[in-house]
Amino acid sequence: AANLVEIRDLSIQFPMKRGVVQAVQNVSLDIPRGKITALVGESGSGKSTLASALLRMVSSPGVIAGGSIKFDGTELLKLKKRELREYRWSQTAMVFQAAQNALNPVVRIGEQFIETYVAHKKERKEKILDKVKHLLDYVRLDPNRVLNAYPHELSGGMKQRVMIAFSLLLDPKLIILDEPTTALDVITQEYIFNILMQIHKDLGITMLLLSHDIAIVAKAADQVGVMYAGNLVEVGETCDMFAAPKHPYTSGLIKAAPSLLTEAAEPIAGSPPNMLNTPAGCKFHPRCKHAMEMCGREQPPLLSLDNQTLVACHLHSAGHGTEGGAYDIAA
Ligand code: SF4
Ligand code: MG
Repeated sequence: AANLVEIRDLSIQFPMKRGVVQAVQNVSLDIPRGKITALVGESGSGKSTLASALLRMVSSPGVIAGGSIKFDGTELLKLKKRELREYRWSQTAMVFQAAQNALNPVVRIGEQFIETYVAHKKERKEKILDKVKHLLDYVRLDPNRVLNAYPHELSGGMKQRVMIAFSLLLDPKLIILDEPTTALDVITQEYIFNILMQIHKDLGITMLLLSHDIAIVAKAADQVGVMYAGNLVEVGETCDMFAAPKHPYTSGLIKAAPSLLTEAAEPIAGSPPNMLNTPAGCKFHPRCKHAMEMCGREQPPLLSLDNQTLVACHLHSAGHGTEGGAYDIAA
């Protein structure tokens, strides 16, 4: 199949004292094999929650309230505990923001690699070390130095590279990168990003990149999904989306990114909604310059414009805009 992952109608809720947060609402998304798919959106838009469902690691008190996630044909939401342990790291691995904090501070790096490996597969220690050295080399770290080091002996950027090597340890089919460079300085970010792109090029591994930074997404991704307040509002090929964004929020994100523009950046007015009390209809309507009367009443469904682009916005429903419902929001 062309898609490694097929997410359908996924909903994730967090029951709170004062109500239920719909962190992810009826999201459907395909992740094509061998490509980089990015999810972009402000913090709190549901990207990380969605990604955590791909590892069946939604944080408490969140629950997957409905939907389906097919991974290489297998329904993830039906996996038993033992099958899940098997699946994590060996099928899907994740590198998150400040992932370096996941390293055990009192165990040497080399030992941590070996422990993780043998928890999944039987192998001789020398063989594992050979593989780890190769991976560390790959992320441009000196294996001899790093294997014997404790985490505190390495810089933040080095630890993040150790985590990237970790994610490759069991040859997963999918790597999820959740703001992988956000906690680092700009030069280190660039350096690590180049390493990730090299890995993708060499191994052809499928990646899901989560970022609030649309400039990073523009550089890296083949396909982009835009999330707003728990909804997926636009999905398309990266070049198409940047050339002609279809959803006003996507257009706003692009206009707000200084590095993508020659003109001055223009931040999106307003702020994301309180997730305990989201606006009726289109959740973006209080911030949208194009809002119409129906936008406050009816939530727009995610519809296919052509075979490439999906968008959830009434401007693109039948009866609005120009030919085929395509409305030029860049104007
Ligand atoms: Fe704006 Fe209406 Fe489209 Fe929502 S549905 S993005 S409010 S035009
Ligand atoms: Mg996040």
